Amino acid sequence: MQSTKLGCEKLNVPELFGSKVFSDKVMKSRLSDKVYNSLKKTIDENVKLEPEVAEAVASTMRDWAIENGATHYTHWFQPLTGVTAEKHDSFITPSPDGGVIMEFSGKELIKGEPDASSFPSGGLRATFEARGYTAWDPTSYAFIKDHTLCIPTAFCSYSGDALDKKTPLLRSMQALNRQAKRILKLFGTEVKYVRTSVGPEQEYFLVDKEMFEKRPDLVYTGRTLFGAKAPKGQELDDHYFGVIKPRVTEFMEDLNNELWKLGILAKTEHNEVAPAQHELAPIFSTTNVATDNNQLTMEIMQKVARKHGMVCLLHEKPFAGVNGSGKHNNWSMATDKGTNLLSPGETPYENAQFLLFLCGVIQAVDDYQDLLRLSVATAGNDHRLGANEAPPAIISVFLGDELTAILDAIKTDTPYEGTEKVIMKLGVHSLPRFSRDTTDRNRTSPFAFTGNKFEFRSLGSSNSIACCNIMLNAAVAESLKQYADRLEGAADFETELHELIKEVITNHQRILFNGNGYGEEWVKEATEVRGLSNLKTTADAMPHLLDKQNMDMLMAHKVFSETELHSRCEIMLENYCKSVNIEGHTMVDMVRKNYLPSIECYLHALAETASIMRSVSDKVKCNYEISTLERLSELTDYILENVDKLEKVLADLEEFDSIIETSASIRDCVLPQMEELRKYVDEAEMLTPEKYWPFPSYGKLLFSVY
Ligand code: ADP
Ligand code: MG
Repeated sequence: MQSTKLGCEKLNVPELFGSKVFSDKVMKSRLSDKVYNSLKKTIDENVKLEPEVAEAVASTMRDWAIENGATHYTHWFQPLTGVTAEKHDSFITPSPDGGVIMEFSGKELIKGEPDASSFPSGGLRATFEARGYTAWDPTSYAFIKDHTLCIPTAFCSYSGDALDKKTPLLRSMQALNRQAKRILKLFGTEVKYVRTSVGPEQEYFLVDKEMFEKRPDLVYTGRTLFGAKAPKGQELDDHYFGVIKPRVTEFMEDLNNELWKLGILAKTEHNEVAPAQHELAPIFSTTNVATDNNQLTMEIMQKVARKHGMVCLLHEKPFAGVNGSGKHNNWSMATDKGTNLLSPGETPYENAQFLLFLCGVIQAVDDYQDLLRLSVATAGNDHRLGANEAPPAIISVFLGDELTAILDAIKTDTPYEGTEKVIMKLGVHSLPRFSRDTTDRNRTSPFAFTGNKFEFRSLGSSNSIACCNIMLNAAVAESLKQYADRLEGAADFETELHELIKEVITNHQRILFNGNGYGEEWVKEATEVRGLSNLKTTADAMPHLLDKQNMDMLMAHKVFSETELHSRCEIMLENYCKSVNIEGHTMVDMVRKNYLPSIECYLHALAETASIMRSVSDKVKCNYEISTLERLSELTDYILENVDKLEKVLADLEEFDSIIETSASIRDCVLPQMEELRKYVDEAEMLTPEKYWPFPSYGKLLFSVY
């Protein structure tokens, strides 16, 4: 037994952990050996699931769920909205005696048929063809949430097109598995599977619920659309890793318990850079499970925060002027034996293998920069990337000085100036040991090697991690495929391998960058000298999904079909347009209904005061009243003019025929007009007494939780 941090309650974490999960442990103890082994083969080696096995699993799962308080079940899935979806059915079935029995069949476990018509499909499924189906994903454990047994599922249309994020993610993991196994075979290693693992670090803000509810912009859009800077922001660096406030500690404790029950390995928690900003990091797990778990984590964070009278903001930029929130996607590849393929090995042979996988990632990031960029593109994340608080929109790879020097030595056949001088001839020398600490000094790189994994740092806090991992897995599968094709046919494996690695390092040199990713000079060098792409906004990035080389690669590895790609491009752009559109209309609403009338009240008060004062004595100057009144009155004119303009550009959006045109107009007309309008309102806020101002200030929002 151990006590919680606040010491009020005793908690047995090992007992609590996974108590609501139909985990491997539960399956092993409850299923017959035959059923368990057969299911395991399906999970590990993708062998088809037999109906009798499904039947046996279903009945055991039902018994376990009912014992643990479940009355309903749901196929839990991740439609393209980016959040999760569930439709609950109870287990009850009428019995002949007029009562009910609790039933759950193999068929119900394997397949569900939710009405799919209201989920975005980007034209994949005509609305009249409402049915889609969900299919059990046995590689992610079922769990109980709020008395409901949740069965992780993939979501497809009847024509077999994926309507969700899980299906392509599983396909991309398969693609990588296929190619990585070919490479390992060349090195004489046979494995059951290679899987990618991810540990996503999640940032978020907590604000007081009462304050939150007073701000329509937060309620409708998740971010503040107006707000003058508070006198204090993050300049003192006093929040990062600072002492966690009691109310937040209680929240984190409660959150951990809920996550642990669901078998989510919540591990690290701390305050982040901005006031009211925090981070939670789990221990890494298989990508598919990590994705499900991250979706659950985001959902539960919001739920638990409400219980504590707070609201958890997952938006990438809830407040201007302080850091926004991101998510770091720590990624690696490992075999079923637990060998991390991104760990430098002990022997020369292992090292050559490590270098080849490393090259696979470097080439993948260079060849498919745009896919990685667009995989994290949302209206919210556009506010962060390149804004001196998050990596630039330019994708590059950081390897650290030591590994860079080793690669340089290989490239030029020159001695490596490490601990001892050695010519790095692969297959002859092992790599000098280099410690993680010396490699992870750069926080400005979007894609950094951190000793035995890569950390993709461009994700926004609300992004599903499925998207970037689909692209990453597929792109790495493609480089590995090229290597396997070449090496399998080589006359002399070692010579060919050495040549190949040298070639990759030489050809993809431009993507490697150890310098400051936040600097202006980097933008110039990256785009003008190196020819890297700099896709600043979602509107710029997303159309590249349909570039020929990208479509060819994703289709060749069977990650997406052509129709699926078209639909995704459409949905992501639509989402961008709709989000900004809602923001624009929220601004109009707040200005017309609240800001202008409030400023007017204050103007009235000023005018009245000045005229009364004057009537008392003609010696009073009324400098304060008059200058404030003059400027505020000017500002209301600007505000009016700009809110009219905003309304006009929003109305213009209706005129466009294609989503490409609409999104370009969002980028070029709507967003700049929103900025312009905000500028005048924020200035007016600084001139208006708090009691006249209609909404809580930044100071109130950022420092409301203690
Ligand atoms: P940081 O220094 O960025 O704060 P940590 O070393 O604490 O990071 O790790 C961050 C995340 O990376 C954690 O979720 C951790 O579990 C995960 N991680 C560690 N090793 C691996 C790996 N081999 N593959 C994937 N993720 C990993
Ligand atoms: Mg990190």
